[in-house]
Formats: sequence, structure tokens, C-alpha cells
Amino acid sequence: MRRERSEALYEQALDVIVGGVNSPSRSFRAVGGGAPVFMKRAQGAYFWDEDGNRYIDYLGAFGPIILGHAHPAVTEAIVKTAAEGTLYGTPTEKEIRFCRMLREAIPSCELLRLVNSGTEAVMSAIRLARAYTGRDKIIKFAGCYHGHSDLVLVAAGSGPSTLGMPDSAGIPQSIAREVITVPFNRLDTLEQALDRWGDQTAAVLVEPLVGNFGIVPPAPGFLEGVNRLAHAAGALVIYDEVITAFRFHYGGVQTLYGVEPDLTALGKIIGGGLPIGAYGGRREIMELVAPVGPMYQAGTMAGNPLSVAAGIACLETLARPGTYERLDQAGERLAGAIAELASRYGIPVQINRKGGAFTVYFTDRPVTDYDGAKAADGEAFARFFHLMLESGVYLPASKYEAWFLTIAHSDEDIDRTIEAVERAFREMKRE
Ligand code: PMP
Repeated sequence: MRRERSEALYEQALDVIVGGVNSPSRSFRAVGGGAPVFMKRAQGAYFWDEDGNRYIDYLGAFGPIILGHAHPAVTEAIVKTAAEGTLYGTPTEKEIRFCRMLREAIPSCELLRLVNSGTEAVMSAIRLARAYTGRDKIIKFAGCYHGHSDLVLVAAGSGPSTLGMPDSAGIPQSIAREVITVPFNRLDTLEQALDRWGDQTAAVLVEPLVGNFGIVPPAPGFLEGVNRLAHAAGALVIYDEVITAFRFHYGGVQTLYGVEPDLTALGKIIGGGLPIGAYGGRREIMELVAPVGPMYQAGTMAGNPLSVAAGIACLETLARPGTYERLDQAGERLAGAIAELASRYGIPVQINRKGGAFTVYFTDRPVTDYDGAKAADGEAFARFFHLMLESGVYLPASKYEAWFLTIAHSDEDIDRTIEAVERAFREMKRE
């Protein structure tokens, strides 16, 4: 497959954009380097690159694109709204409608505030937990990623882990000291941390089902235990559902498992592919936010009509009967076929799947935490990634990311993907 234009554009990009990319996860550094693919157009389950090659997309833009690209309901909402003005700096009726939809699906969000990204949502929820408790420390789980605000770039998964830099430069020691990191899926170490720092801890922050060192579901009882231990210490629980909300069913992981946090951060899917974030929680806590309370948080772009209109259209489409059954069936078929082929070709893989999202780890040991994900073979993944790319299947360029199915992936797309996996495994076995 020729990608001459991507290579030329990468050279140009390097000259004007740091690293040639506007977000590190878009680079191919973790899969051997070189030019990332420059996409020109996307429709449904497909990407077309600048050289005219077509790919089946399993990146889903790192999560938001659950309806497939350029879904007509979303496109129509954006076009219609844009013609009425893109930003007012005043409240609008659409924001009420949208936030009602979010609250109906995730009832623990009694009051909400819209922001522009997942990073902002988590950052604001942390500030709020600190304002509410009058405490400074945060406990988080190793390998979870919560955006790029200072506090959460300690032991961060996703892009930072992919690039081997889970602890970012530029974070003051004084801030890093306020973050305690414990392993995911273990309550004993959380309990020890709370025994030691519980009276200084504002919140325990968690991805209730991890998406950032691959898909890692919570062990039975883990989420209940997090609530019990945090609340016993007088700390709040913040769920980062930026990846998980509306991914596995119409609501959050919290509504799926029946365990509610005090505060929730949202993003990605809820904006239908436009920039958005939201945080919400118990009324009594949320009422500390300005202009009602003393905690300041604001945004020129927040609740902008385009993101809100795209979000409403996306949620309305997702709410149709059968959406999540279909994603689950497609995920089961594809992940099942990959597992079967891996065993046939003697390639050790573990596949962690929830609904239409899964991660293929090149390891023979089950992955239940960050150490398990780190142990997966990055070189084998890189080889697999490039072989799939050559077959016209676009995967996230990191062993730590998930494949995301969309409702646009057809049975035939999945068949073609399975054929590509077989070719890749056959080649890997031969080498
Ligand atoms: N939280 C989680 C769980 C995420 O996966 C991400 C993004 N991958 C973020 C927060 C940050 O969101 P954004 O990139 O929109 O700032």
C-alpha cells in the first residue's frame, strides 16, 4: 500500500506542528515510528487516506465515533445548528434538553455542568471534591488516564504509557505529592492508602471499567469496595466515565453495575464527535460550583450549540432499540474469531472485551491491571498493527488502546477484518 502523500505531509507537519501531530497518541512512535497515516475523509466504518487507500476504522477517534463517521443524524444537526450561529455566550434551550437526557440516563448526575473536553471534566470534578471536603489529596489507579491536567499525569495510562512517560515533566513536586497511586482491581492496597492518608483524601478517582490500558473490567465487588472504603474515610468517589458512558449501554458503567459515585466525568460519545465534556453529581455537591457556590469553573466555549446539537443527535440515535445488542454481537463475533485464529496459529493473546470494545494483548497471562497490560509484547503488537494496516484495517497505534466498534461496521466489514487478522497471524508465525 503506497502512502507517499502521508509521508510528504508528515515532513511538512513536522516543520510546523510539534511532533507533526496535535495529540501524541496520533503518532506512530509506539509502533516503530515513521509517518502516521494522514486521513482525508471518513464515512461510516471507513477512512480514506490522502493517497486514496481505504481502511476499516477501529480507532473510532479514540472513542467518540460510536455511530460511525458522518452519521446523517449528527451531520444534519450540526449543519442546521451552524446556520443559526455557532456560539452565543448565553444559555440556550438545547443545553437543558441535553443535560436532561444525560441525567435521565445517569441519575447520579442530579446537576450537571458542560465543559469542552474530558480533561476539563475530570479537572473540575477534582477541584469540586477538594472544595467539598476541604482536603487536597487524590487517590487514583495506576494506568488509568484522566486527561492531561497536572494532577492526573502521575502514573497515567493511554498516550503517556504508550510513549513510556507515565509521569510527565513539568508537574510541580508539590502537586505530584498530592496524588497517591494504587493498583486497579485491588482493595487491599486502596485500604492501606486510605489508612495512611484517608483524612487528607478528597476523592478516589477511577475509571470504573478501564479503557486506558486496554479494556479491563472491574473485578466483582471492586467498585462496591471503592465506595465503601472511600466513604468510610470521608472521601468522595469520582467516576471517570469519559470512555465508558453510553459505550456498553444507554447510560454509564455505574447504571450498568448499579454502583453510584458522588461525581462523574463525561466526554467523548456524548458530543457525537464534537468537542465536549461534562461533570455532574449530587445536587448538594454541585451547588458549590459558581455562580451558586465558591468553586470557580467556567468556559467561553462550554455548552456550545454545535457540540450540544451533535450530542443530542448522537444520544437519540443510540437510544434506538437494538443498538447495544448489535455492538455486543459484533464485538463477540470479531473478538471470538481473533481468539480462535490466535490459538490456531499458536500466537499467545488475551482478549478483554466488553460489548463493542476490546483489546488484544499479546501475552499468555490474563490482564487485570496495569502491570499485566505493560507485560504484553509491544513488538508483536507493532508487527500486527502494520500488517493490519497493510490489509486496510486501521487499529489504534498502541498496545494500550481499545478497538472500538461502531454501529456502522457491517457483517462484511467484520469478515474482512477476520481475514486480515488471519493473514497477519500467518505472517507473524512464519517470521
Ligand atoms: N478520561 C478518560 C477516561 C479518557 O479516556 C480521556 C481521553 N482519552 C480523558 C479523560 C481526557 O479526555 P480529552 O482527551 O477529551 O481531554
